[in-house]
Amino acid sequence: MIPYGRQDITQDDIDAVVAVLRSNFLTQGPQVPRFEAKLAAYCGGAYAVAVNSATSALHVACLALGLGEGDWLWTTPNTFVASANCALYCGAQVDFVDIDPHSWNMCPQALAKKLAVAEKAGRLPRIVVPVHLCGTSCDMLAIHELGQRYGFKIIEDASHAIGARYRGEPVGNCRHSDITVFSFHPVKIVTTAEGGATLTNRADLAEKMALLRSHGITRDPRLMSKAPDGPWYYEQVGLGFNYRMTELHAVLGVSQMDRLDEYVSRRHEIATRYDELLAGLPLRIQQRADYSALHLYVIRLNLEEIKKSHREVFVALRERGVGVNLHYIPVHTQPYYRAMGFAEGDFPEAERYYSEAISLPMYPGLTEADLLKVAGALKEAIQG
Ligand SMILES: *Cc1c(COP(=O)(O)O)cnc(C)c1O
Repeated sequence: MIPYGRQDITQDDIDAVVAVLRSNFLTQGPQVPRFEAKLAAYCGGAYAVAVNSATSALHVACLALGLGEGDWLWTTPNTFVASANCALYCGAQVDFVDIDPHSWNMCPQALAKKLAVAEKAGRLPRIVVPVHLCGTSCDMLAIHELGQRYGFKIIEDASHAIGARYRGEPVGNCRHSDITVFSFHPVKIVTTAEGGATLTNRADLAEKMALLRSHGITRDPRLMSKAPDGPWYYEQVGLGFNYRMTELHAVLGVSQMDRLDEYVSRRHEIATRYDELLAGLPLRIQQRADYSALHLYVIRLNLEEIKKSHREVFVALRERGVGVNLHYIPVHTQPYYRAMGFAEGDFPEAERYYSEAISLPMYPGLTEADLLKVAGALKEAIQG
């Protein structure tokens, strides 16, 4: 089975991890700050805070921005559940903004409409979380402008989008947001096995997120309530968690970052080849403005032109050894969210997307033979 995503691990990666295993620090050593510096330098953001997952990153980002009981966080239904769950961890409530039918990202017009209604009802969100689906940036200019007008903060969920560009600049520089979050899960663009990071240009937010990552404990005298009792002294100044990234994970990230640009350009080659091989088939692809990181290559079937159902095409691909997947089941249709009152029909564009979408294999190690196999299997699955 050709998987839909797969990590690339080189001898350099292995050597780097082994060297850390033999070093003095398995956690809280020099590799995490090194990884953070590398992320910040790559993105052109001022501060990076590495944590043990993007889920943790979203949680500390929400807390640093003051999200709590009585607040609302809005995100897209077309995402992984973590983009919404982070609000619930903080005791806040979640709502969704439907997607644009072409970019498949949060629709700025739908956001503007919903904000106008929410303002009248006195229920404006404190935070909006746009998600850069498949590695293609949302319309951040429009979303940022609405943020200025309605006073909400912005966390970019860029779990798919490290290495992408928006208006010629790296995603992660937070030009149009307060915080950007990356994931380093093995299917993502670069991996630390498990891991995530937040980027921000605000020193106060970076400081808060670094505290939240490690129990709310500080060893920095500037942040203490009094002069240290002695060299052993630390203070807990807030309630945090253990969301730290280990040295092994961080050094893997350092090593992988050296190949980030190579990975993304290889993904572009693969996407271009898919575009050629699939031309003429009854399907649509994402409108890709700017430079996408191409985490995913998703097709949407034109079901009116196909005799088979979405499910039949999907199953036929799996039967032919093509490990397709589906990103995403609309979050509001999950039982946990239905129990909060969401229902089918609430976000029709996301639901329509779900009824047509299939993620084809997309990762740097795919060969020409793999791509031909995927394209051949898809043709058979649609026509056979
Ligand atoms: C993968 C992913 C996450 C969660 O990332 P983890 O590092 O696995 O916690 C969150 N949001 C999106 C959009 C993702 O794709």
